[in-house]
Amino acid sequence: MRFIDAHIHLADEDYAQNIEKVVEEAKQANVVGLVANAMDLNTSRKSLELAAKFPGHLYAALGIHPWNTKKLQPNETQDTIDLIYKNAQNSNLVAVGEIGLDSTYSGTGEPTEVQNQVFHQMLLAAEKTGLPAIIHSRGATSQIVEMLPSYKISKVLLHWFSQPHSLIPTIVDRGYYITEGPTALYVKGIREVIEQIPLTNLMTETDGPVRFRGPFKDKFTTPCFVLSVVEAIAEIKETTKSVVADQIFNNFVDFFGVEGVRDKRHDEGTVGSIKGNNGL
Ligand SMILES: [Zn+2]
Repeated sequence: MRFIDAHIHLADEDYAQNIEKVVEEAKQANVVGLVANAMDLNTSRKSLELAAKFPGHLYAALGIHPWNTKKLQPNETQDTIDLIYKNAQNSNLVAVGEIGLDSTYSGTGEPTEVQNQVFHQMLLAAEKTGLPAIIHSRGATSQIVEMLPSYKISKVLLHWFSQPHSLIPTIVDRGYYITEGPTALYVKGIREVIEQIPLTNLMTETDGPVRFRGPFKDKFTTPCFVLSVVEAIAEIKETTKSVVADQIFNNFVDFFGVEGVRDKRHDEGTVGSIKGNNGL
């Protein structure tokens, strides 16, 4: 079985000291694809650097998170967009993310004007480059789903989708994907989402370094947590872990266009003869 973590913040300070170990442990656990999501310009640059360091295993998503719209540096949005354009043909860059709106963060119950402006510009960058968009939509999911058709975004991933459940048929109709993470083990609402969403529209994530409760209480979040998430999904869907893992792996390859990840294990020498051929 191969596993994936489609949404983690590996450029975060919390991973800085042990990034090699975290990525190596993921590899050992067969978590073969990681997408390092950015929060701002700085982590966009760092995510690209990480992707260059672990090619074919760790990919980068660049963008500005709605939580960071309060503390933007001069030109930060434009510089981030320029970085996306500059790397649009770089195979290590697989999405624009994490971008979005958060109505719970502004204090007013609505996304701020700056959030709206930055999100608009990020969506335009996704449109122009043809890159998928990884979207944070806390408290604003209906608003975002309503506005998305006015952009020509190739692929949409609603990260940690929680509610309203009534949007699920629209999400499926439009071919959007959602990711779910460790809360699949212990949050009723998330387990209900998983029950309702087809496996063909679902991927796994950890959103590390976010910390979790339940069986993950007091544990440092790593990509290896997705193994438990796959197990929880299999239990909810009343199927096997391998059916879940295989479908989610295929979703990951299709969504991010990373065919190379399929052959990665050959490069690692799991298939000896192929490794031998590579040496010629
Ligand atoms: Zn995130």
